[in-house]
Amino acid sequence: MGAQPKRAAINPQPLAVTLRERIAREGPISVHDYMEACLADRRSGYYTTRQPIGRAGDFITAPEISQVFGELIGAWSAAVWQAMGAPSAVIVAELGPGRGTLMGDALRAWRSAPQFLAALSVALVETSPVLEAAQRAMLRDSPAPLQWYAALEDVPRGPLILIANEFIDALPVRQIVRESGVWRERTVAFADRGGFAFGAGAPVEAEAVPPSLKDIDAPEGTIIETRPAATKLIETLAGRANDAPIAALIADYGHEASGIGDTLQAVHRHRFADPLSVPGETDLTAHVDFAALKEAARALGLAAFGPMAQGAFLLKLGLATRCDRLLRSATPDQKEAILSGAARLADPRQMGALFKMLALQSSGLAPPPPFGDI
Ligand code: SAH
Repeated sequence: MGAQPKRAAINPQPLAVTLRERIAREGPISVHDYMEACLADRRSGYYTTRQPIGRAGDFITAPEISQVFGELIGAWSAAVWQAMGAPSAVIVAELGPGRGTLMGDALRAWRSAPQFLAALSVALVETSPVLEAAQRAMLRDSPAPLQWYAALEDVPRGPLILIANEFIDALPVRQIVRESGVWRERTVAFADRGGFAFGAGAPVEAEAVPPSLKDIDAPEGTIIETRPAATKLIETLAGRANDAPIAALIADYGHEASGIGDTLQAVHRHRFADPLSVPGETDLTAHVDFAALKEAARALGLAAFGPMAQGAFLLKLGLATRCDRLLRSATPDQKEAILSGAARLADPRQMGALFKMLALQSSGLAPPPPFGDI
């Protein structure tokens, strides 16, 4: 029997009310806890209560733009499995699979890699009941066994290939702000005229400040961001690499070098919005700091490759060849969609440069494609 889609818990109380009560009780909350509540509150968080991805939703992602994205990541995974020595059992885990589109396209591509398919089981790591139901529906004809988990820590041990597209940007950031010559926790408090406003709270612990900024007398108001859950993800991967080969592909939007500044942003119906105006109703994200991820991975003994711009990554993996093949049997309308989709993914003026791919692996494996070519 097929799985029954789960119903989202319907909470009559908007998150803004819950947060007001919390701030009245506890005082201002950290930006980290605000972002976490907005996205993941068990009753009224953004992802808990809706399927936000697609034209009718708030934002669109690469796998939703072109099937070639998931197909090429599928091919990448099969190549990495070969580089691991083709272990007889491997888990491909996807973090935050959204509507399940990327995994559906990858699974279709793996039908022409029967040995990989025979070794494979798929782990979908998802916290949102609404999106889990969408994934179950999308992947119901999967040629490989599927299993859902709430956290990567729950995924069984053994050789692992991990995919995370636009997942890390949705993990809460901690913001630290320079005020009165001291680094303080950036908070969300009540605004004088109602609603919420940013503030500066208690001084942070010394370890919260990146070493490069410790001794600098930064200008008042300087903001730096860290992402505790991303650091924990790297630690989990490095821990697993002690027992079995691992490879991870992290794709997201963000900066190559650690920077300074507030990158918290809200998107509603494909437009930017105020992150404080309607908590839980807008998609809140912040740039991914690829340099920090890479540094954390290397410090724990993992090999890191990239980040490489999404456009270059996809072109080197064969975007053009794959599109050519699709074009041969396409109608005129489909042709237009294939070409505009490929341009949207790869053109540096669209997603091709802002979005980047970082590969992490157990040390000692051959570099993953296409990093080995450069
Ligand atoms: N990868 C998909 C969806 C990106 S949206 C795509 O490219 O289309 C972010 C996804 O991460 C959603 O599926 C959301 O429910 C999930 N998510 C957010 N925080 C999570 C967490 N802490 N653990 C697991 N999944 C999470």
